Amino acid sequence: MTDFTALTDTVPTTRVVVIGGGYSGILAANHLRLRDDVDVTVVNPRPKFIERIRLHQLVAAGYDAGVDYGTLLGEGIRLVVDTAMRIDTAARTVRLASGRELDYDYVIYAVGSTGTVPQTIPGAAEFAYPIAEFEQAQRLRTALEALHPAAPVTVVGAGLTGIETASELAEQGRNVTLVCGGRLGPSLSDPGRRSTAKALAKLGVTVMEANVVTEVRADAVVFADGAVRPSAVTVWTAGFGVPELATASGLRTDAIGRLITDETLTSVDDERIVAAGDCAAPSDQPLRMCCATATQLAPQAANTVLSRIEGTTPAAFEYAYAGSCISLGRRTATLQVTRKDDTPVNVYLAGRAVATFKEAVCRGTLWAMRRSARKPAWTFWLKGGPRPAQPVPGPKVVSKP
Ligand SMILES: Cc1cc2nc3c(=O)[nH]c(=O)nc-3n(C[C@H](O)[C@H](O)[C@H](O)COP(=O)(O)OP(=O)(O)OC[C@H]3O[C@@H](n4cnc5c(N)ncnc54)[C@H](O)[C@@H]3O)c2cc1C
Repeated sequence: MTDFTALTDTVPTTRVVVIGGGYSGILAANHLRLRDDVDVTVVNPRPKFIERIRLHQLVAAGYDAGVDYGTLLGEGIRLVVDTAMRIDTAARTVRLASGRELDYDYVIYAVGSTGTVPQTIPGAAEFAYPIAEFEQAQRLRTALEALHPAAPVTVVGAGLTGIETASELAEQGRNVTLVCGGRLGPSLSDPGRRSTAKALAKLGVTVMEANVVTEVRADAVVFADGAVRPSAVTVWTAGFGVPELATASGLRTDAIGRLITDETLTSVDDERIVAAGDCAAPSDQPLRMCCATATQLAPQAANTVLSRIEGTTPAAFEYAYAGSCISLGRRTATLQVTRKDDTPVNVYLAGRAVATFKEAVCRGTLWAMRRSARKPAWTFWLKGGPRPAQPVPGPKVVSKP
């Protein structure tokens, strides 16, 4: 990685701006170094990479989730600490919050996802704490630190993030209630769910499976049946959003703002914009927001750009899932085995060995990024995940470099 001020005299022929320095942005940027005539700039709002998959650890126990970009980004990749505000596809510039503009030949759109709190639930925006972004997690950490350890904490949303957060807090001795709004771990198989419920009970988490939160107050949550339960801090994990950059740039997005792409991960509006990670909606049928998606899509997004530079036809992306691993505190975890399309089968593993495996997976994400920084050709993705029978067509106009 080089500092922005350290521009070289050599003039590479193709400029690629990677918007977002998360899992997918880093891997895509590193993979672009397969060609040495590509000038790669990564734009990210923070000077450090954030291990989002550990934000619940930051919240519960102060884990330091910031990692220096130094070893994560390959030689020659420039980091610009700023926020992209608009992609001007006609001028081929990315406008930054600082007022600067970056010219590009291609953009890799890798802005990830955000933690959202619904405006429709009274008090949620005011009193609930989302956890999906670094600053949100820090804010929640501060709120918890000011709290008596026995004070009631409510985690709303029992997807994987909600389960991991509730477990981590309970392991630290917090008095935690997990409100599922219908089902604990909807993506788990029945046996996997039963095992997870047992582990949560062992940690002392009160699981309210069918209950739905309809209002959040400063010191309580209110349920659909009118019941009120004390809650000194309410954590909101029910639902992720995505940054609005694609929408703000006039590009077609799905209902929550993911960039709609064709099967080569190219924006359906512009062949120079290629997406990866949580913010991509290939053929308007997005994959699960997770690292397995980000890490599989990222090198393929870079390959699409490399193909266009070389004048060859980009390949349709491939992927597959094998399972999802959910930490339940530091001492146990559930590994739910899935089919390639991410649907669960009735096979799961649980226990301390799985917690060790999950820790290895988390470390493995950093290892993989560092390895791709050193060896751009090093990459892999799985094959066989289903794609739509009628994928959306790509952009019509193919412009010259
Ligand atoms: C608490 C928690 C636990 C999780 N646990 C797991 C897990 O165990 N396993 C798993 O697979 N997934 C997990 N996830 C989900 C996982 O973190 C995401 O799917 C993953 O981070 C997606 O990678 P990404 O590269 O698409 O986006 P990100 O990692 O979010 O990176 C996107 C980057 O783009 C930046 N950005 C956004 N907007 C702009 C802009 N306008 N200009 C410039 N930069 C911008 C962001 O700040 C960020 O740095 C978890 C998430 C949370 C919150």
